[in-house]
Amino acid sequence: MSLVVMKFGGTSVEDPAAIGRTVDIVAGRVALGKQPVVVVSAMAKVTDQLLRAAAASSQGDRTGALAISSRLRSRHRDTAADLVKNAADCAELVNFIDQKFDSLDEVLRGLSAILELTPRISDLIVSYGERISSRIVATAFRERGIDAAHVDAREVIITDSQFQKAAPLDDMIEKRAAEKLRPLIAQGKVPVMGGFIASNEAGITTTLGRGGSDFTGALVGGALSSESIEIWTDVDGIMTADPRVCPDALRVKVISFEEAAELAYFGAKVLHPATILPAVKKNIPVLVLNSRNAACEGTRITSLAPRCKSPFKSIAVKKKLSIIDVVASRMLMTHGYMKEIFTIFDKHHCPVDMVSTSEVSVSLTVDSNDNLPAIAADLSQLADVKYEGRKALICMVGDDIRGQSGMAAQVFSAIKHINVRMISQGASEINMSFMIDEDDADEAVRSLHAAFFKDPDPAIFDVEARKQ
Ligand code: ADP
Ligand code: ASP
Ligand code: MG
Repeated sequence: MSLVVMKFGGTSVEDPAAIGRTVDIVAGRVALGKQPVVVVSAMAKVTDQLLRAAAASSQGDRTGALAISSRLRSRHRDTAADLVKNAADCAELVNFIDQKFDSLDEVLRGLSAILELTPRISDLIVSYGERISSRIVATAFRERGIDAAHVDAREVIITDSQFQKAAPLDDMIEKRAAEKLRPLIAQGKVPVMGGFIASNEAGITTTLGRGGSDFTGALVGGALSSESIEIWTDVDGIMTADPRVCPDALRVKVISFEEAAELAYFGAKVLHPATILPAVKKNIPVLVLNSRNAACEGTRITSLAPRCKSPFKSIAVKKKLSIIDVVASRMLMTHGYMKEIFTIFDKHHCPVDMVSTSEVSVSLTVDSNDNLPAIAADLSQLADVKYEGRKALICMVGDDIRGQSGMAAQVFSAIKHINVRMISQGASEINMSFMIDEDDADEAVRSLHAAFFKDPDPAIFDVEARKQ
């Protein structure tokens, strides 16, 4: 039987109506003779609220933290009561929810006494979101006659111990998937597990980083060598730009692994940046689909996408970046100088997105983070340092940008009213990116979209939608 991993994001499980749609979609796959394995996120905004509760209690605001927890408890209880009509099943589920919130409250109380939020405790606190949502969804499936089995994702997704951004241990995951998921599948059950959450080899809870449920879906698909990995979200697929910024964005019907990875890395939130890796390893197609519009065919991400007549497929934006200018008093290209600079970023575990050099200066862009003053202090041992926040990176992704003449001229003339701080082109055949002020980002995306998606290739883009 063909196995399909179906991941549903926060908006696809945000309330009883959304969970109802999710149940319909999975029931539809079962009716087609498919064997689904389901991965769900926490209900929409729950992770943010759990993080807020953690921050409040670690700052001594115990009452505020417990109030957030209490509101979340009611939301989950109400959802369970609305979805599960069978009295015994409902009582069991509500009891489970109460137990989890009781233990969360204990952690929050402890934190308000200790007043220190470590990454490890943060992961424990946010894990409640997916632990509870997956249990609710599994019960809702059973209520509708789908033979679902809840699985604690932390017993399957094993990672290293980098809390808040843990790296998966593929061999362990494959072994655990064989032990915990395969027997359920063999019995014809539908395993349901939370995304994002995992544990290290000692069984301590970790997470895969924000938006990490997509990654869980792909890891499970990879471990089980599934036929496809479906990412169900709240938009029709990967679009030519974020539809929240650019309302006339078009659905991209098909895109390559490489292009999708580039878009995800450079800020297209619709996919977690690591999602593509497990799929590429086993050449499993990834489909991005809309749980609010299940009839739409979505975006298919595969190893080879057909050639596209339009120069670009999509525009991504990564905000909250900083630019660091390092100006040396000696020649930059002195042997070993770049190494010294990068050693400092490495020491602070700070990845660099973009680099540009002149004779005596280097500019680098990084995610804005609390370490910047410390990084700048270390760099100032080598050179003069300036850094500036509130920057955004715009990344244009297309088939063969490097091979097309005049492309840079067209891009920059479309945004000639916007000041460009840094440019990167040629490092990859499929990506052209540049840095601007964050406040200009949305306007830049709209101008670029208007310039490059006037006459889109109908083989690649859903131009029909524009006509309607
Ligand atoms: P989920 O909770 O289902 O994981 P996310 O909020 O993480 O959903 O991702 C979906 C959102 O990604 C969309 O609502 C959209 O605003 C945003 N997005 C950003 N760039 C794109 C893009 N190029 N195509 C589609 N959606 C995008
Ligand atoms: N719930 C997690 C988050 O909000 C993971 C996810 O939704 O993918 O980041
Ligand atoms: Mg997401």
